[in-house]
Amino acid sequence: EAKRAGRGRWVLFEPRMQTQVVQRATLEADLHEALVRDELFVVYQPVLALGGPGASTGCAGVEALVRWRHPERGLVAPGQFIGVAEEAGLIGAVGLFVLRSACEQYMRWQLDLGPQAPGVLAVNLSVAQLRQPDLVDQVGRVLADCAMPAACLQLEVTESLAAQDPTSLARLRGLKALGVGLVLDDFGTGYSSLSCLHQLPVDTVKIDRSFIAEAERSGYHRALIEATVRVARTLRMTTVAEGIETAAQSALVQDLGCDLGQGYWHCRPLEAEALTPWLAGRPAPRRPAAPPLQLVS
Ligand code: C2E
Ligand code: MG
Ligand code: MG
Ligand code: MG
Repeated sequence: EAKRAGRGRWVLFEPRMQTQVVQRATLEADLHEALVRDELFVVYQPVLALGGPGASTGCAGVEALVRWRHPERGLVAPGQFIGVAEEAGLIGAVGLFVLRSACEQYMRWQLDLGPQAPGVLAVNLSVAQLRQPDLVDQVGRVLADCAMPAACLQLEVTESLAAQDPTSLARLRGLKALGVGLVLDDFGTGYSSLSCLHQLPVDTVKIDRSFIAEAERSGYHRALIEATVRVARTLRMTTVAEGIETAAQSALVQDLGCDLGQGYWHCRPLEAEALTPWLAGRPAPRRPAAPPLQLVS
């Protein structure tokens, strides 16, 4: 703000601004500790096939979402600390923790729930992670350690990065070569463009929840969802509607042709122990081409 006001002008330094700077600095210091003290954990939100009306469909997949149980602040959401982790050079460690925890849990579900286990596992990658030269090796190592077939893992990236930076694009191709699936997250926000979709090595397009929130009252947003679905189909990509909060929204995005849905209406993100009985109560999902049950003796 001070910069925008220009030179030679006085800007009051608001106490609020100082508090933010201090909070960020402490959060950064605390994050180092969090990794050591095991304060980070992962919750999982189901992604479901949008079946017929009232149909109870199998759990096509789960998305892993990181959480931080801070000793003083309580639960801290990723929106508050992923950026801090990136700036502090800690995103690699945080990302690897999430990936390893989630892959281990995914394989545990395969053993415990058999056909009712989630079809695939989705893990978010941030821009900074895509710039890590050793990312592809790390992902490959985690998969090997967990004896998890690459086809069962999906990595979610937001569109803004992928399209622009050639290094990130090369990294995405490297991940693709491992055999993992790639998801374009929050599609429709930022620099999204239907005309660029065919240039990206992604298999799934996740339509941003702002579109789902507007769909009932806005014909424009419905048209954009439909157009996205149509283009994605042409490219043989799967579509996911995120942020579904009501039965009406679920029915609408199904009508508009979305393949899969995710949101509080279906299920909130839950810790693994809480999600297990929920999964056990659902029918078996359709599986990705490669069989996930590859039990090593
Ligand atoms: P995202 O990947 O788009 O994840 C979906 C977010 O929407 C999650 O927020 C989820 O809790 C929330 N959500 C799910 N259903 C609904 C709904 O019906 N209504 C509303 N209003 N929200 C819903 P969360 O967990 O706070 O994560 C926010 C973002 O932080 C994620 O957005 C993702 O970009 C990032 N993130 C989360 N976990 C990780 C991680 O392990 N690594 C990285 N790099 N980023 C992560
Ligand atoms: Mg995501
Ligand atoms: Mg998303
Ligand atoms: Mg989103």
